[in-house]
Amino acid sequence: MNVLVIGRGGREHSIVMKLSESKLIDKLFVAPGNAGMENVATCVPIEETETMKLIHFAKEHSIELTIVGPENPLLDGIANEFLAEGLSVFAPTKEAALIEGSKSFAKEIMKKYQIPTASYETFTDAEKAKAYVIEKGAPIVIKADGLAAGKGVVVAETTKQAIQAIDDMLVSKAFSEAGAKVVVEEFLMGNEFSLMAFVHGEKVCPMIPARDHKRAFDHDEGPNTGGMGAYAPVPDITEEAINYATKEILQKAASGLVAEGRSFTGILYAGLIMTAEGPKVIEFNARFGDPETQVVLPLLKNDLIQVLVDVLSDETPQLEWEEQSCLGVVLASDGYPGSYQKGVLLPNLYGESFIVYAGVDKTDNGFVSNGGRVLLVGAKSTTLENAGKLVYESLPANKDLEGFFYRTDIGKMKEDALS
Ligand code: AMP
Repeated sequence: MNVLVIGRGGREHSIVMKLSESKLIDKLFVAPGNAGMENVATCVPIEETETMKLIHFAKEHSIELTIVGPENPLLDGIANEFLAEGLSVFAPTKEAALIEGSKSFAKEIMKKYQIPTASYETFTDAEKAKAYVIEKGAPIVIKADGLAAGKGVVVAETTKQAIQAIDDMLVSKAFSEAGAKVVVEEFLMGNEFSLMAFVHGEKVCPMIPARDHKRAFDHDEGPNTGGMGAYAPVPDITEEAINYATKEILQKAASGLVAEGRSFTGILYAGLIMTAEGPKVIEFNARFGDPETQVVLPLLKNDLIQVLVDVLSDETPQLEWEEQSCLGVVLASDGYPGSYQKGVLLPNLYGESFIVYAGVDKTDNGFVSNGGRVLLVGAKSTTLENAGKLVYESLPANKDLEGFFYRTDIGKMKEDALS
């Protein structure tokens, strides 16, 4: 088979790395990819949102399956366009991807199909939203309805902060259209984890759970980022909780979308909080998580392309997982998630780890940075602790890095961080 992956980040590098192990693939392309992927796939200089060019490429190179990484092309309808051209694609239509694209739509689905989540109300009127906040009290969570690159969620510790967030979104239009509607949601207490599944209509094949670390600095301090590291599986999440989340959350969401005439094909990602009453949803994504994918796929024993082909043909692949833990730490550019310098020469990395590239470029002097999250250093081992040890042995100390930083407490709970 000839296969095309769309995207350029760590998630897509991880997908092509896994696909490159498959004997079923003749040619593997990635558009646009990044310089770090060139040894496993052919990079094609077409942007993720240049749908017509991607379709033309897929036809010209007899692509039998296209896999879409990032959310923006999905919400623009890339899967709809591929399907209309008779091309096979492992990705949701824009109607199905709305479960990620609109938080109020996701909440309606959860309410209608009795999927456990935080109680909420949706508002376009700032005064009504504020009255609701005052009635409910803090802590409380304010979410911009649309895509806001991970910045549209404010966990307000006081009603004052919540009111400020409402003013920012509904009055000052800080997120323009994405924040013209807000969801005001109950604050849920508990440990977070995520569960992704291969989905095709009613068929749901869950992966192992993962946990990412979103804040920029150790002890979960600093601003929210795309994710500074992750690990899988998650020792404090029981088999029972995973089964419950599969049945009551992922399966109900997939079946609900079918019932709504928005049948979902692709990766359904549930962001969950393990509350005293069981797992509850804080968000759905319509694609592989980043950086969760980078620590989940290395543990998958199956041939990934076979899994996708099986799911698309309504068969149930038996997923098999290595009895190991996988942990990954993101090396980021100094300043990230704010402004940062590009073109900085990458440090040398040693040890028994693997590297997943994200924001990199190649020059005559070697690899240089070209993004906020530059790469992820990952390792697998029989214990999570040992996987962490292998990763940290590969990284120079933070004080010796020029232009980069990483968190030193990935894999640890907040209370037992290293430093
Ligand atoms: P999201 O962009 O929806 O993943 O939200 C970003 C972060 O906000 C999550 O990772 C959680 O830490 C936090 N969060 C979102 N919703 C809630 C909630 N209802 N209760 C507590 N924390 C939440």
